[in-house]
Amino acid sequence: MASTAPETYWAYCSRWEEQIRAFIEMKAGAPDKMFPAAGPGASQGTGLAGLPFAVKDNIAVQGFSLSCGSKLLEGLRSPYTATAVQKLEAAGAWVLGKTNLDEFGMGSSTDNSAIQQTNNPWDTSRVAGGSSGGSAAAVAAGIVPFALGSDTGGSVRQPASFCGVVGLKPSYGAVSRYGLVAYASSLESIGILADTTARCRAVFGAIRGKDPLDQTSQDAPAGAAPLYGDPSGSPKVIGVLSAEAIAKALAAVAAGIEGSPSTKETAAQAASLEQEVQQGFDVAKTRLAALGHRLREVEIPSLKYGVPAYYTIATAEASANLARFDGVRYGRRPSEAENPEDLIDKTREAGFGPEVKLRILLGTFVLRSGFQDRYYLRAQRIRMGIRRSFEELLGSAEYGSAETPRCDAILMPVFPTRAFGRGGGTLPPFAQKAADLYTCCANLAGLPALAFPVSLSGGLPVGVQLLGRAFSEAALLDLVEAYEQAYPFPHPAAYHAFWP
Ligand code: GLN
Repeated sequence: MASTAPETYWAYCSRWEEQIRAFIEMKAGAPDKMFPAAGPGASQGTGLAGLPFAVKDNIAVQGFSLSCGSKLLEGLRSPYTATAVQKLEAAGAWVLGKTNLDEFGMGSSTDNSAIQQTNNPWDTSRVAGGSSGGSAAAVAAGIVPFALGSDTGGSVRQPASFCGVVGLKPSYGAVSRYGLVAYASSLESIGILADTTARCRAVFGAIRGKDPLDQTSQDAPAGAAPLYGDPSGSPKVIGVLSAEAIAKALAAVAAGIEGSPSTKETAAQAASLEQEVQQGFDVAKTRLAALGHRLREVEIPSLKYGVPAYYTIATAEASANLARFDGVRYGRRPSEAENPEDLIDKTREAGFGPEVKLRILLGTFVLRSGFQDRYYLRAQRIRMGIRRSFEELLGSAEYGSAETPRCDAILMPVFPTRAFGRGGGTLPPFAQKAADLYTCCANLAGLPALAFPVSLSGGLPVGVQLLGRAFSEAALLDLVEAYEQAYPFPHPAAYHAFWP
């Protein structure tokens, strides 16, 4: 972190923003005087008062844009504020602006935004990841200390990993989804991108909890560890997804997916870790062991079914959730239409981008009458299997033994590659979907997962993730905070933090 401010905060934001285009909308001339003085709690991240933050443009903030990265909603002003944002505002933080995303959260690069392209602060010729790419880039560049994103199948953790910041996908229901424009309701959570783990904890502490406006939200159960419980990061049992388990899953993907041999091959290749990511994963293992944790190799037999199950359920839910965008109630509509049906057709034809259309089609295909057994219900059964695999590893003591103790957390890769180049680079759209293998399981199982940066390779960050049992965010944050103190991660060149 540079010790003296290079310029005013606003000039700093504008200069970075010219290079990375993380924001769809930014409050002009953000005042410097609102930053907190370094006081008690500030360096531990417990103080949120005075801090600016960014919000993914699929989360409502009254008076701001709510475009969802779509032409259909471009220019829409939100009439209300999401509960998570409201809670942060109540803690004294303020919204600097709305960040870019893949249209409706569908993608892994933010290149699926119909509004603009966002660049990675570490290398502006590469993507920031997605779909919360704008939020991750804004944090990595030091424009804001934290940002909100949404994670349906990895959209907080993958861009966090590409940009070298911390990314938390909370347990399903831990944070209210009121004000999040739904993509796949049963899978997604509002998540946090932050400069430090301590900050992530403070933000999570502020936004979590039951909200009468979201019936799926809940408070942490009585037995859950307190959020500020074990700062020492005492020794834990960490299950590590073994190289054999990954190889087996990839072999099964190559053998089992319906499609041409080249499709199977592409899917398996896309999910296999590039060398630099494998090295980062190994570094994380060595360091976690050096910190005193006991590592135990684990397998997740149902891993191989994760991506097909995820895309079946996610597109099915998306086709229903996106039905509301009909040009009648909100968003852009054509100037002329013969009748209401024609109005809806024209609105959706002109308003949705190709990826969104593809997914709506896929969703209606898997839900069509007479075929639900074959796709949707089968995917739901796989989902239960994945959940059970994780429960057995993380769950109740009855599964553990002296040789195979139950795990407090499971270490997994986040994404098989580092940030790739524009337009998908070496990872075309189908391959990007296959590469969601490591992230989508936490969403299918409803578990919390915390991504954090572990190495820099060729000037690009590599992240890993820890998954825990439901409502064990505190344990994950403890583990990563201790790791981060022992192995701090650098910032991109020209980074400056305007806050303690
Ligand atoms: N890459 C995944 C997808 O395209 C994840 C998206 C998300 O989490 N919003 O669906």
